[in-house]
Amino acid sequence: MTVGIWNAGRRTPSFGDASEAPYTTIQPGQAWGEPWATSWLRLTGTMPTEWAGRRVELLVDVGFSAGRVGFQAEGLAYSSTGRTIKGLNPTSRWIPVDSGDPGAEVTVFVEAAANPTVLPLNDGVRDFRPTPLGDPATLPSTPLYQLRECHLALFDATAWKLARDMEVLSQLMQELGAQSERHWRIVSALERALDALDPIDIAGTAQHARDELAPLLSSPAHASAHRLSVVGHAHIDSAWLWPTSETVRKVARTTANVLQLMDASPDLVYAMSQAQQFAWMKEHYPQLFERIRERVRQGRFVPVGGMWVESDTNMPSGESLVRQLVFGKRFFMEEFGLETEEVWLPDSFGYSAALPQLIALSGSRWMLTQKISWNHTNRFPHHTFYWEGIDGTRVLTHAPPADKYNAEVTAAELAHAASNFAEQGQIGGSMLLYGHGDGGGGPTREMLARIRRLRDLEGSPRVESETPRAFFERTEAANDAAPVWVGEMYLEAHRGTYTSQARTKQGNRRSERLLREAEMWATSAAVLRGVDYPYDELDDIWKQVLLLQFHDILPGSSIAWVHQEAETTYDELATRLEQIIESSLSALSEDSGPMVPVDAVPFPASGGSPDPMSAAPEVSASVDRDGTFRLDNGLVRLHIDGSGHITSIRDLVAGRELVPHGTKVNVLTQYRDTPAQYDAWDIDPTYRTVAEAIDDVTSIEHWKGEGVAAVRTERAFGSSTVVQTVQVNAGQRRIDIEADVDWHESGKLLRVSLPLEISADRFAAETQFGHVYRPTHTNTSWDAAKFEICAHRWVHVAEPDYGVAVINESTYGHDVRRPSPGRVRATHTVVGLSLLRAPRFPDPGADQERHILRYAVVPGASIADAVWHACTFAQTDRTSRGEAALAPLVRSKTSGVVVDTIKLADDRSGDVVVRVYEALGRRARSELEIACDVSRVWVTDVLERPVAAQVELANQRATVDLTPFEVRTLRMTPAVRKLPS
Ligand SMILES: [Zn+2]
Repeated sequence: MTVGIWNAGRRTPSFGDASEAPYTTIQPGQAWGEPWATSWLRLTGTMPTEWAGRRVELLVDVGFSAGRVGFQAEGLAYSSTGRTIKGLNPTSRWIPVDSGDPGAEVTVFVEAAANPTVLPLNDGVRDFRPTPLGDPATLPSTPLYQLRECHLALFDATAWKLARDMEVLSQLMQELGAQSERHWRIVSALERALDALDPIDIAGTAQHARDELAPLLSSPAHASAHRLSVVGHAHIDSAWLWPTSETVRKVARTTANVLQLMDASPDLVYAMSQAQQFAWMKEHYPQLFERIRERVRQGRFVPVGGMWVESDTNMPSGESLVRQLVFGKRFFMEEFGLETEEVWLPDSFGYSAALPQLIALSGSRWMLTQKISWNHTNRFPHHTFYWEGIDGTRVLTHAPPADKYNAEVTAAELAHAASNFAEQGQIGGSMLLYGHGDGGGGPTREMLARIRRLRDLEGSPRVESETPRAFFERTEAANDAAPVWVGEMYLEAHRGTYTSQARTKQGNRRSERLLREAEMWATSAAVLRGVDYPYDELDDIWKQVLLLQFHDILPGSSIAWVHQEAETTYDELATRLEQIIESSLSALSEDSGPMVPVDAVPFPASGGSPDPMSAAPEVSASVDRDGTFRLDNGLVRLHIDGSGHITSIRDLVAGRELVPHGTKVNVLTQYRDTPAQYDAWDIDPTYRTVAEAIDDVTSIEHWKGEGVAAVRTERAFGSSTVVQTVQVNAGQRRIDIEADVDWHESGKLLRVSLPLEISADRFAAETQFGHVYRPTHTNTSWDAAKFEICAHRWVHVAEPDYGVAVINESTYGHDVRRPSPGRVRATHTVVGLSLLRAPRFPDPGADQERHILRYAVVPGASIADAVWHACTFAQTDRTSRGEAALAPLVRSKTSGVVVDTIKLADDRSGDVVVRVYEALGRRARSELEIACDVSRVWVTDVLERPVAAQVELANQRATVDLTPFEVRTLRMTPAVRKLPS
């Protein structure tokens, strides 16, 4: 073959442009491909006349290395007319060629991506050393690959089948071990086969060797052999050690591969998750997408998961998880006319206890997971079980006992799955997901050949190709008595992902907050003023936010490139959302009247107002003779010592001191945080042993402004600086704290600690649409393993009659625990917020430079108050013109019953959709006040489809009764539609 090359750099031209580009000849051995650059290869040759009618393949090796499939160079082969043929990978280097026209010229194009190996293997161990390969600004310019041989070859089917026979039997032989009679029968059959095979004439003798093995391969499995449902799959991370733009191409290569394999293998069933990846195919590879559509119609290419991406589930808000399901399921319904009923999250870093209810509310019934097998401390006890969420909803869940989602169908994998399966004897069968992920091309023809041989084979579990739906339906029918796991599936690993890449996390929280406001005010503007609702704009913004919640982006475990793009995107989205909010509020504003604050919280705090003495006296800031600063607003009085730490918080309303004797509040500590592996992911349990309190003061001052008094402390530590501000506000017990950090550390965790004189063996942490309790102690290995946890906007520690909430603006990582070891009477609890990390892999510059982190302490707060403050604390103060404060269209009258989302229905009918939830874990009734005439109100699922009878309406009020942590979606039809004036 003659190979021509054209270097496109980091551009990705179309086939049309690439096929007409100027190619230069490249010889085997020549280098190509700077990191992340694309080269097009044009391979031309002549079909030998003697090969007419025989099976011919073009073998292409662009310089592949063994191992790390999907983490190195990849290619996509095109015919001379621009049709995608298949992907090229280390384990799939062949391209089928038509041999029907002997003597004819063969031309194939290959789009070759010089993707670097960001996470290499060294002696089989992952090498997490810092790398310049993940940041466009630090890439080396030396080529990474050397072209190897590219040539036409005859495919000998008999010899290839013999190789598969021997592979399957020799693997099985090793699994069975020497105590098995079957083992020795296989040994002697393999010996006879090798004797029958002449190494000088393999083609002429392969069939004789196969004949020796045939009886062994036709001996059936034991009657009670474990049954595995095998599902072809490729776990393709929507971004990780590559940018999202490369994921688009990875999906195309893998999809092309799968479609090519399907043509020859009628038994291949392939499951693909993440609607976003299908949407990319539709947009960028319309021909491939049409071929996918055809196979979906036949039930062989199976969309699964019903989420926009396989998102993280620790950090996205409740509404975000709802939209993951809504956007995902709706895409599959609209494009393929089918409703997925399983949620597919094999790789997310732990599973929120809010999920089962949301899965059920989206009309799904099942859940597939896997990552929980990565637990470092405790073995998760189940593989097939009902998973019960915070509201009591149960979802049938399966975790494949092979402990992986990228199997290769080896005897070792099957044996491990069968022996590891926790529900043996009670429940038959498990699932096995096979195929190389992350651009490795998915299933291979070798895997399919092994499946055919393993269907019913003595000594092996049975395997059967089937769809996830078929597996779940069968399992559901047989499993009323499956065990129940209650609450969160906490992953005992990857605890650093609640904190790494703080700017990405801040962007997510800000986007969620602004989306809530934008939808709420745009709905009011549409219903009350007839303004057009920005459906398309909001859909587009949501899709971008949902993509960035992918389980390697929001968790902060991607390369620098991905996080740089995320930060830019979040800034653009904030600008667009502010425009929607501003134009909606200006439409709602009266022509005259004073400027009044906008009231954007559609539910009350406990007791109806945030504080019992809201008309409190003066705010003061003073300094005592001993240098102690004093902040006082009549509700709380703070003492701050000369080192800038809070030594006393007096709740003047309750008459309580909050700072435990001998401790200080708001102390920053730097911990050595250099995990043994998985830097951006893990915090190792030993990290606390090397710690350094940040005490040095560069300057400290107090000041007083309009309704506020504060102490500001400036410090320098390591190569960094921080300005800490502690502020009290008129009329509020809430104490606002800010840390403005210029962070230049490496391998460090920055935590602020807030010891509080509250005796509590557990604390509440906000999760989606509710909260979960977690222990403050380490009694059992399960408790001890939760040494770092994820909370949403607040944590709450309480004694029966008094509690304190700690609210945050954008922090997720928390450590809430008993006082330090030692012989003390432990009557207090230490709340810690993990503010920043500085992991060195995969982004060696992660988290550097400036961060403004805000949090607050709310003395005397109930959980209802925590929810209310969480909503108000981070919200932008806005004003509009009018006699009265502008209020949301729908409000709850009961504290703890939270109106979370107000939007217009996705079907664009003009109906108003309201999502409300019970936040306290109790039964509650609330009246919802509706500020417009509505003719009827239905209960719907989250896809806004009616599920229950109409809700009674009286005097523009709808009454809802909710069970603990119940999420309810209401759909309201306005009686009169306002037209724009
Ligand atoms: Zn993943």
